[in-house]
Amino acid sequence: MEGIILGIESTAHTFSFGSVSTEGELFPSFSSLFRPEEGGIHPREAADHHSESTSELLKKLSSNEDFSWDSIVAVAFSQGPGLGPCLRVGASVARTLATRLSVPLLGVNHCVAHIEVGRNQTGCIDPVLLYVSGGNTQVIARADGRYRVLGETLDIGIGNMLDKFARNQGMPFPGGPKIEQLALEHLKNGPKSLDEAYLPYGVHGMDLAFSGMLTSATQKISEGLSLEQVCWSLQEHSFATCVEVAERALAHTGKTELLLGGGVACNDRLREMSKIMCDERGANCFWPEKPFCIDNGTMIAELGRRMLECGIETKIMDSAIDPTLRTDNTAVVWQ
Ligand code: AMP
Ligand code: MG
Repeated sequence: MEGIILGIESTAHTFSFGSVSTEGELFPSFSSLFRPEEGGIHPREAADHHSESTSELLKKLSSNEDFSWDSIVAVAFSQGPGLGPCLRVGASVARTLATRLSVPLLGVNHCVAHIEVGRNQTGCIDPVLLYVSGGNTQVIARADGRYRVLGETLDIGIGNMLDKFARNQGMPFPGGPKIEQLALEHLKNGPKSLDEAYLPYGVHGMDLAFSGMLTSATQKISEGLSLEQVCWSLQEHSFATCVEVAERALAHTGKTELLLGGGVACNDRLREMSKIMCDERGANCFWPEKPFCIDNGTMIAELGRRMLECGIETKIMDSAIDPTLRTDNTAVVWQ
């Protein structure tokens, strides 16, 4: 049946509604970002933000002239992983809409959705995904009917690390884009040496670690290095660790495509470093447009579409959220 799949994203700070046609045409999302006044994300406060934004976001979505409620053939939502109170808001809205519209409900694995929207957008087929977001940092590839986690952070996500450093230095959430800007400032007057600004390099086999890097970067500021210099060094070190593990994943799996996903994949320096690595080993490097890197409802709709095509549907009684859902919990049966 031709129509639109609606996707609802609510794993953490972003509450977002997006859609995709049954043929796979991606439409822009309508999103609202929770920005804490101080400190990190409090799950309950973020969930309240999501509840309070629901009617306004639905109004925006439905006021689009191409939109019609009758064209919706399924409602997909992020079932996990994520913050429980936030996931619960998205799931409740999804259950309500699916029931009201009498269409199938689809509980979606958020991490897998990053891969599928990237595949749709870039045309890559069987990539290694470097998934770099606020809460998650994983290197993933498909094998034996699952997306397998080949390596991941042992402590905090890379985006979380950047946001925490930024917050300690008085910059508002999200800190990643501001750090990128300050790093560029540092390079204004030509290339720089890392000599003064070495940070602990957290690669452990195929896994990564960022908390030591964060502590050391904060120390460098108290030792008198400029904020611009430390932001630059933080990017160089943290991105190098991710690209190193991604390269090893390409080597071990024999795959020839690297796909970037997650909010940190908006960063031009990470894109550049990934592309250099891929060029050196004859692989191809892909990244989706920025609105599809950060968390968005369209990516949830896109994975819902792939599942729907395979006849998958989530019964209401199986639609409970799963905050600890793993990337490899989801069977990948689509092409
Ligand atoms: P996500 O959790 O996938 O929505 O991504 C959000 C994360 O992406 C936050 O930690 C942001 O700081 C980070 N982020 C967004 N844009 C950039 C950028 N240009 N450079 C680095 N990090 C970024
Ligand atoms: Mg994400």
